[in-house]
Amino acid sequence: MQQDARTENVILVRFGEIALKKQNRGEFERRLVHNMKNVLPQGAKVRRESGRMYVTAVGNEEELLSRLRRVFGIVSLSPALRVPVDDERIAAAALQVAEAAAGESDGEFTFKIEARRADKTYHRTSPDINQWLGAHVLRNVPGLSVDLHEPDLRLQAEIRPDGAYLMGRVVQGPGGLPVGSSGRALALLSGGIDSPVAAWYMMKRGLKMEAVHFHTPPFTGPRAQKKAEDLAARLAPSNDGMVLHLFHFTSLQEKISRNCPERLSLSVMRRTMLRAAERLAQHRGIGALVTGESLGQVASQTLENLIVTNASVDMPVLRPLVGLDKDEVVQRARSIETYDISIRPHEDCCTLFVPAHPKTRPSLPEVLRAEDNAALNFPENPEEMFMSLEFDARGDLRHNGADPRR
Ligand code: ATP
Ligand code: MG
Repeated sequence: MQQDARTENVILVRFGEIALKKQNRGEFERRLVHNMKNVLPQGAKVRRESGRMYVTAVGNEEELLSRLRRVFGIVSLSPALRVPVDDERIAAAALQVAEAAAGESDGEFTFKIEARRADKTYHRTSPDINQWLGAHVLRNVPGLSVDLHEPDLRLQAEIRPDGAYLMGRVVQGPGGLPVGSSGRALALLSGGIDSPVAAWYMMKRGLKMEAVHFHTPPFTGPRAQKKAEDLAARLAPSNDGMVLHLFHFTSLQEKISRNCPERLSLSVMRRTMLRAAERLAQHRGIGALVTGESLGQVASQTLENLIVTNASVDMPVLRPLVGLDKDEVVQRARSIETYDISIRPHEDCCTLFVPAHPKTRPSLPEVLRAEDNAALNFPENPEEMFMSLEFDARGDLRHNGADPRR
C-alpha cells in the first residue's frame, strides 16, 4: 500500500453492528459514508479501509467531532495523528499526543501505551511497541508516570499497512444503524419532550424519518410552530436531513370540539391526527408512523385509549417509548439536546383543546359514534392541508413552503 509521507490529522471512525451484517455490509458502509459526508463541511474526505473509516479533517476538529457524534452507525471516534511507518516519525507523533493530553491536566498525569500491530511486516511486536514508546514518552515528557490499570491517557498506537495512527481520545458515537438502511417512517412531532426522542430511537435503528406537526392557528401561535421547526433542525444531523410537514389542523379541531362529547374529544382528536398522518404518509410513499406515546403516562395513553387510537389506521404505528419511564425519556432528551427546545413554553393544541377529564377507558363503538357525528372529512387532495420545510443534514433550512419533492 502506498504511504503518504506527511503527518496528517485524521479522525478514526469505528463502526459496529454494520460490520456484522455480512450480506448488506457494502450497502450499509456506503450509506454511512454518505451520511457522514453530508454532516461534514465541503472538502472533507472519508476513506474506507478494512473495517474502519478515516475522515480527513478540514476545519475545527471539535466541530467535526460534534457533528459526527450524531451520525448513527458510528460506535466511536478518535482524533489521530497519521504518520508513515517509520520509527522516528512514530515516536515523535506519540510524544505529540502525550504532550497535548498532559498539557490539559494539572498535577499528576498517568498514561499507558496500547499498541496494535495490524501490519505484521512491521519489525516490532505489540508488547515491544508498548515498551519502546512507553520508555520514550517517560524520558521526554516531564511529570508523567505509567499506570497500566487506570491511566489518565490511553495512548493508542496502531501500525497499519497505510500508516501508523497515534490516538489519545475516544469519543462515543450513538451506535445503531446508518439512517436510511431500514426504510422510511413518519413521526408525529408535537412540541413536547417525548416525540423527538421517539423519532431519534427509530432513526437509531436505521429509519429515515419525516415529521408532521399539527398546528391549530390562530389558537396555537408562531412559537409553537417554531418549536417544531427547531426540533426538526436539531434532529436533522442524525437523520441525514429532515422534512417537516406543518399540518393545518384548525378546521378538524373545531369540528371535534363542537360536535363530540367532551370526554371523548381527546380520543377522537388522537384518531384524527393518526388518520391525517396516515394520509400524508401514503402520499409520501411512507409505510409506518411513529409516536411518542408511553403506556400509562397520561389519560390518553392507557391501553384502552391506545387500542382505540390504533384502530383508526391500517398503517403500523411504532411507539419506541412505550416501555420507558418519563425519567428515562427526559434523560435521553437531554443527551440528544432536544430537551431545552421541548420545555420552552408554548400553546399546544392538545393542552388548549383537551378536556379536564378525558375518558381513560373509552370503548371503540362509542368513539366511532362520536366521530361519525363530527363529520370529519379530509379533502380529496391532502396537499391542501399541509406545507413542508426541508432541513439539510447540517440543520440549515433548505426549502420552505411547498412540497419538497417539486
Ligand atoms: P409529547 O411529549 O411528544 O408531546 P405527550 O406525552 O405530551 O407527548 P400526548 O400529548 O398524548 O403525549 O401526545 C402523544 C403523541 O401524539 C405525541 O408523542 C406525538 O407523537 C403525537 N402528537 C401529539 N400532539 C401532536 C401535534 N400537535 N403534532 C404532532 N404530533 C402530535
Ligand atoms: Mg404533548
